[in-house]
Amino acid sequence: MPELPEVETVRRGLNQFTCHQKIVGADVLLHRTIAYPHAVNDFVTGIQGKAIATWHRRGKYLLAELVSPVSHPNTFKSFLVVHLRMTGQLLWLHRQKPLHKHARVRLFFDNEQELRFVDQRTFGQMWWVPPSSAPATIVAGLAKLAADPFSQEFTVDYLAQKLQTSRRPIKTALLDQSVVAGLGNIYADEALFLSGIQPATPCTHLQRQQIERLQKAIVEVLTTGIEAGGTTFSNFLNVKGINGNYGGMAWVYNRAGKTCRVCGHTIERIRLAGRSSHFCTQCQQ
Ligand SMILES: [Zn+2]
Repeated sequence: MPELPEVETVRRGLNQFTCHQKIVGADVLLHRTIAYPHAVNDFVTGIQGKAIATWHRRGKYLLAELVSPVSHPNTFKSFLVVHLRMTGQLLWLHRQKPLHKHARVRLFFDNEQELRFVDQRTFGQMWWVPPSSAPATIVAGLAKLAADPFSQEFTVDYLAQKLQTSRRPIKTALLDQSVVAGLGNIYADEALFLSGIQPATPCTHLQRQQIERLQKAIVEVLTTGIEAGGTTFSNFLNVKGINGNYGGMAWVYNRAGKTCRVCGHTIERIRLAGRSSHFCTQCQQ
């Protein structure tokens, strides 16, 4: 599943290729990809003829600010919101490029260019948020989202306050988008390794010093992931269809049975709330 670094990598690619370009048309191949408006025609009419001003990211959501090419002072912006979920990919390509069988939505631009949404598992979603509405009133997940790890709001106090009453294992809490926005299985395992915390530790047992290390580690692993252009794991691709580089440098994720890069002990795997967690029994207490 794409996590914050992968979604940020996609956002940067989208800003590079689609900004100030006009959406001239759209073809929705799988209707249930469109979460809002309920009528697919309203989605197509909403985005058609609009230019993309810029792409933002909130947690794992991508938000394109859409403007009318001749902007009127009283015209508010509308938004195209995308969530890639498990397997969604946004690819910037030539319209003549053969259609992959998992293509779900096609957004057409000038010069025969296209932004194609490909999604094997079909959990990915798109919303068009009309000018009269705030994105969080239409996209329920946005309203529940915690602070972004790269925002000023994401401090040690903030994280401590989010964790202080939870008896869940810390790993499970880190996957909750209302605790931290943008973390998934890969970077949660990596952040716990860097902060020396065993993933099954109940949140209420964490010392202040551990939370301080964890807050720093979350920002650090996500920064490293973005610098690597996203992960090699799963089927992540950037908008030009290229895989990231993070996998080769992972500390513990997907390394069960291999030796710890720090102490040489064997990396273990356990299951917590149905998800695999990888950790070093020596480095993480
Ligand atoms: Zn170790």
